Amino acid sequence: MATPVNPFKMAQHQFDEVAEQLQLADNIRQVLRWPLREFHFQIPIQMDDGTMQCFRGYRVQHNDASGPSKGGIRFHPAETIDTVRALATWMTWKCAVADIPLGGGKGGVIVDPAGLSDAEKQRLCRGWIDQMWRNIGPRLDVPAPDVGTTAQMMGWMMDEYSKLIGQFTPGVITGKPLGGGGSKGRTEATGFGVVVTIREAAKRLGLDPAKCTASLQGFGNVSQYASKFFIEMLGGTVVAVSCWDRQDKTSYTFSKDDGLDPTFLMSITDQYGTIDKGKARDAAIKIEDSNAWMEKDVDVLIPAAIEGVVTKETVSLIKPTVKILAEGANGPCTPEADEVFKNSDIYVIPDFLCNAGGVVCSYFEGVQNDMNYYWELDEVIDKLDKKLTNAFQSVHEMAEMSSVYNRNAAYMVAIDRVVRAMQLRGWI
Ligand code: GLU
Repeated sequence: MATPVNPFKMAQHQFDEVAEQLQLADNIRQVLRWPLREFHFQIPIQMDDGTMQCFRGYRVQHNDASGPSKGGIRFHPAETIDTVRALATWMTWKCAVADIPLGGGKGGVIVDPAGLSDAEKQRLCRGWIDQMWRNIGPRLDVPAPDVGTTAQMMGWMMDEYSKLIGQFTPGVITGKPLGGGGSKGRTEATGFGVVVTIREAAKRLGLDPAKCTASLQGFGNVSQYASKFFIEMLGGTVVAVSCWDRQDKTSYTFSKDDGLDPTFLMSITDQYGTIDKGKARDAAIKIEDSNAWMEKDVDVLIPAAIEGVVTKETVSLIKPTVKILAEGANGPCTPEADEVFKNSDIYVIPDFLCNAGGVVCSYFEGVQNDMNYYWELDEVIDKLDKKLTNAFQSVHEMAEMSSVYNRNAAYMVAIDRVVRAMQLRGWI
């Protein structure tokens, strides 16, 4: 029986460990252990059949010392306030490690978006803004897409906010569609960033990425582009991806020893990330159980789905061939799994470094919205690559210099920057 994981306890545990190592003063720990602000609200909407349904919504602003709070909105049936708190906290560290002038926030709604029509989704998005518009804004808190939300939804939310304040305000939200205030490269950005950090890790380990194999958990936005770029940019081979099956309410692993084609897989995946099993079988792709992705003899493991999957119980499934574990998801490894990694040769690329590509591109989107001038794709990609390479370098250097585990090194870099921002503003 797997231990249930409370992500916020996990986030606080990770912070406490590093706060202790840094001998951080108690008053600073108090500010950073909890979010600065939380909003809990109801979103009543009319369903297509004329009935009224009420959904529970959240927005958590963990810290905004470095700039407006930044982070996605999740639509998930199992959303909890503690999940949103954890994700908001990780956003603070993510923006700090990426060295962008933004703080950390996250939002959520308890809902399964797959059970809603497009019209209902639109009403729910507008309803979320109707409850929160007074407390978000380009200089206050800037939401974005996350699990269960899309570019189109961001477009509706931006429209609702603009109507309410009476001014076109694209900078209130990022991850918008192209042509609707979005940035080139934003869709691919998180997956691209994951691969940039793997490239940098491989360099430090003296590995030839073209000879590396990878296995990924999830086949949503992050995993789709991470697998594509792992092949296109690094020349590596992707042997397995897992995905959630909405009908069967379980996950499966799709594998092919001589390599999967992510573009083909994307063509047989629905908008919620469920791969068509029949079409996969026809293409000679093997279908295995949910944990099989973790048990592959690969060089690189990429958990890119949800939090709390590599646990005390599952960590032993990982094969000794694995050299890099790249956390595409937020919080996929529990502190107990970290204890195992600390004593192993696996190079862990911690989540808020590994998946920072999305928020860095969101930052670029906000900058373009402010200027009302939009960059070409190569300019975005070039800037993204530089930011992530620098972020990787600062974490790697910190880990070497202080002889600490990579996650702790990433926390050290991030905490130092946020504490400095709070000091400069006279908060502490
Ligand atoms: N939801 C993404 C994340 O967890 C992106 C956040 C953003 O772009 O603000 O990093």
